[in-house]
Amino acid sequence: MAAHLSHLTVRRRAAYLGFDLCAVIPIGEAPHADFFDAWIAAGRAGEMTYLERNRNRRRFPALLAEPGTPPFETLVVLGVDYHQFDLPVALRDDPSRGIVASYAWGNDYHEIIRPLLYDLDATIRHLSGRTTHGKCLVDTGPVLERDWAAAAGLGFTGKNCCTIRPGAGSWLLLAVLLVPEQLADERMEWDTETAAQPTSVRGTCGRCARCLVACPTAAFAGPYDLDPLRCISYWTIESRGIVPRALRPHFGNRIFGCDICQEVCPYNRRRPERAPLLAGLHAHQSRIAAPLLDGFQPENPYWLDPVAFSEHFARSPIKRARRAGMLRNVCIALGNWASRLAIDALQQALVDEDPLPRAHAAWALGRIQSTTRAEQIRPILERALGVEADERVGDEMRLALRGET
Ligand code: SF4
Ligand code: SF4
Repeated sequence: MAAHLSHLTVRRRAAYLGFDLCAVIPIGEAPHADFFDAWIAAGRAGEMTYLERNRNRRRFPALLAEPGTPPFETLVVLGVDYHQFDLPVALRDDPSRGIVASYAWGNDYHEIIRPLLYDLDATIRHLSGRTTHGKCLVDTGPVLERDWAAAAGLGFTGKNCCTIRPGAGSWLLLAVLLVPEQLADERMEWDTETAAQPTSVRGTCGRCARCLVACPTAAFAGPYDLDPLRCISYWTIESRGIVPRALRPHFGNRIFGCDICQEVCPYNRRRPERAPLLAGLHAHQSRIAAPLLDGFQPENPYWLDPVAFSEHFARSPIKRARRAGMLRNVCIALGNWASRLAIDALQQALVDEDPLPRAHAAWALGRIQSTTRAEQIRPILERALGVEADERVGDEMRLALRGET
């Protein structure tokens, strides 16, 4: 049985399952574990406290094996190219629409990719005779996927901290499977001592710095050094908190994630329209750049009503940000649009059961008042302030009334 198992078998099965990229690499020490530890120590993780756990296992993924099971020897790194098309500029820059990061145009990739990893592990188990399970991780475990993707030769890490594959770009979802079999790709000249990049993929940012310059919130402390606490993706997806007031105007119309530092990358230029191999990732038209006000309509108030939200975003990664978080993001985008057309919607958000959207609705109404001088906004804010119990929301309302936005 074992004679049929090789890295080629694994790669062929991965291709059959719908992965665009697959490489195997012997497990050692994560090449940039020191950098990651320093990044954590600098307080970059913010509310992502889970990143602070399992430091040793992140450095040595072989330690992820369950007690009593064989140690992991091989890391299978998989990539899914999710590029579909570039958003037309007129749509992307329309302030009345909410732009969603392109990885979230289809269904949740975690749910799509995880069963495929189980299948790949089952294939390896079948061929090796193993009775224990491998470790299947889709963005959820203590593994530095981009580090291993670079070490395995799938691409290089760009200054925007994304994995870039020359010829294909950076629209890649990464996943890893850890197994106890030795499956190293002997054709790759990977140096296990220095973790040097194999010769199969070469690439570099060179002197380019477009992503660093284009970031609207100045989230890059430097090349390869992204500060999530300034990043639109962090605030609109990961954070459950109030967005710093100074950052809000720079979010524009991005309501879930942000692709700007990838959109400007020359490696992503002129990629033809395509459909991802995994059908579940195909875009739902209503999730790309829907009008911001759509989710306030009485027939489907998905920004206001938890049931409507769950139904509208069934199987979408947008669920991760939760309804209150998404309504917060939408309020920021409405404030940046600063149109009188948004007043009714914001008035509804201002009485939401959750203080998070209430705080940002107040800010947005203040922005509209400052921009349009709409007279009905002051009484709306005054009435809401009169019954507001949350101190931070009250502060936002007072600032809005004073025209401080
Ligand atoms: S995702 Fe957006 S906000 Fe975050 S670093 Fe990239 S360009 Fe900046
Ligand atoms: S935009 Fe330029 S610097 Fe940034 S990741 Fe792409 S090639 Fe590298």
